[in-house]
Order: sequence, then structure tokens, then C-alpha cells
Amino acid sequence: MQKINNKILLESIKFAEGEFLPLQFIEKQELIEEIVQKFDTLNNIQAEKIESADMEIDDNMLSQFDEPTEIIQEGIQPQISDKSISNWQESTSMLELSNAVSGCMKCKFGETRTNIVFGDGNPNAEIMIIGEAPGKNEDLSGIPFVGDAGKLLDKILEAIKLSRQDVYIANVVKCRPPGNKTPTEDEFAECLPYLKKQIELVSPKIILTLGAVPLLALFGKGYQITKVRGQELDYNGIIVIPTFHPAYLIYNPSAKKYVWEDVQKLEKIYQNIQSEK
Ligand code: SF4
Repeated sequence: MQKINNKILLESIKFAEGEFLPLQFIEKQELIEEIVQKFDTLNNIQAEKIESADMEIDDNMLSQFDEPTEIIQEGIQPQISDKSISNWQESTSMLELSNAVSGCMKCKFGETRTNIVFGDGNPNAEIMIIGEAPGKNEDLSGIPFVGDAGKLLDKILEAIKLSRQDVYIANVVKCRPPGNKTPTEDEFAECLPYLKKQIELVSPKIILTLGAVPLLALFGKGYQITKVRGQELDYNGIIVIPTFHPAYLIYNPSAKKYVWEDVQKLEKIYQNIQSEK
């Protein structure tokens, strides 16, 4: 094993805890993964994550990740609103659109939500990031990607010198599915038009999709995340780069290298777009 200094050791511990490697340590990723695998003096939680890092990534395992996850439902009270949403299609700004859908009860997820999690970031951004659905923290705050996966997403953005103000972030589904279950195609059908309207209003040059659900929502069946991850797809003239969801990386740190490749690709395309202006 190569020489290990305190900084590498510190980054190894953070990596084992699910954090994204800072830019200057990317070259050391293999060494850090080796350290994470070998150190058995970490606590039990870290040890579980090390176990995950030892696992081979294959399609079977990733498809299991896409299966609904049973989590005990929080005690969220139904919130009913009679606000009309009939004219949302005519919205000409993100604020208008978010106001128009703020009382939406078009699907069953509306009955158990605390807040609609509409979107965050810069509605004039050239990069749009699309996730799956709000989780517990997002439901409580009304802001997408504020939990552990959100912190990891912030670090991913930071690694390519971007912040939330450089991107617009939205989910396919705006209300938290009870038990954090992965929404099916039928379940997100009512909400998808809102996302499409958001894409129309932002009019981004690049979209980064996170996980299987946004890929299914934009392209339909036949586009599996394990097969098309990192490729450049086309959605109505917009470049789409699919990658893994940050929540997946928390339990599978060894997949970070794939996400790093994908966001580097995004960064390069973004820089090219900037230089052509
Ligand atoms: S998930 Fe979407 S369609 Fe369903 S109630 Fe919430 S905003 Fe409306």
C-alpha cells in the first residue's frame, strides 16, 4: 500500500461515511477505497459501509436498489386545500407555476404530505438536476435534497465548482410518497406534467438525472440507469446525462467513481457551452 498521511486517512473516514471526495483527492480514490476496505477499527456503522464498498456492482444489485424500500411511515397529517390548479399550464414563471400547483391534490401523495417540494435553485440556470421524490426532511422543509443525499449532492456540485445557485433542482414527484417508496410510472403520471412545465420554463442546456425514476419519466421504459449512466441522451434538444442517485452512493461508496466520471462529463459540456457564447 502507498504511503498514507493524516489527510488521506481523514478523507478515507469521510468517504466511508458517505461523503464525496474533494477534487484534490480524486487521484487517491483507489488508495482511499483500499483503506476503507481494510480498516476494521472503524465503528459498526462505518464497518457496514465498508462492507457495501466491498460489494461488486452488478445490474441485479442496482435493480434491487430501484425496488420500493419499506420504511415505517411518519405520522404526517393530511393537508387538504381547495386552491384551484386549473390554470397551471399558463404559468410564465416558476413562481407562478409553484403558486398554481401549491394546492394540488391530484394524486394520493397529496393526502399525506406536509409540504409540496416544488424545486430549488436558479430558475434561469443552464443546468437542471432532476431527482426522484421528496424524503422525510424534504417533506418537512419543502426544499428538495436537504437530507444526507442532498448534502452529498451539494458536495458533488462543489467538486465541479457549482452551487445550487448555478442549477435548478426538481423532483419527478412533488409530494413525499408514504414510506419513501419509489414511485411507479402510474404513481408519478399525475405529477410529471409539472416537471415538464418546469423544464420548459428553465429551458436548460443540460439535465443531470439522478437514479432510475427521472430516466423512466423522461424517456420511458428501455432506458436502464445501469446501461445508460454517463451517456449523452437527448430530450427535446436538451443534453441529458443520467447518473446514480446520491442516496445510492451513501450505501455504495464504490459507485462514487462512476458519478464522478459523469459529473466531469457534465462539467466539460457546460464549459464548452460557456466558451461558445
Ligand atoms: S405528487 Fe404531484 S400530482 Fe400528486 S398531489 Fe403532489 S403535486 Fe399533486
